[in-house]
Amino acid sequence: MGLAEGIRKRGFRKWYERELIQSHAHLVLTCFCAIGLLAAFEVHSRSAPWSDQLTDAGAIVLFAFVGVWALRRYLYLLTHAEAVANQAVCPQCQTYARFSVTEDDRVHQLLTVRCRKCEHEWAIAH
Ligand SMILES: [Zn+2]
Repeated sequence: MGLAEGIRKRGFRKWYERELIQSHAHLVLTCFCAIGLLAAFEVHSRSAPWSDQLTDAGAIVLFAFVGVWALRRYLYLLTHAEAVANQAVCPQCQTYARFSVTEDDRVHQLLTVRCRKCEHEWAIAH
């Protein structure tokens, strides 16, 4: 779901809350992958049969790949949500997060919004 659809459907505050929850869920996944990676290194032994070593190597690669992906996703979701939240203040009346989406320019990644308090319009880059 895109930014405009998410804000239209749930409102900005709920959209922002969901983005933060989703990003921190990825952070938890990153921590689990770090624990799994350390456990896979801990059980690795050169004297073990080659099939066990291969399983350990596969687990190390899997935990490393998923952990890096989850960390990148966490950082992207968090910085995107913060970037949008920093622009969610009406420039005219300084009201935070009380606006309606009027236009979604996907080419230039601009969201035109209208303040619910003073009807002022401004653009949110995302
Ligand atoms: Zn306003």
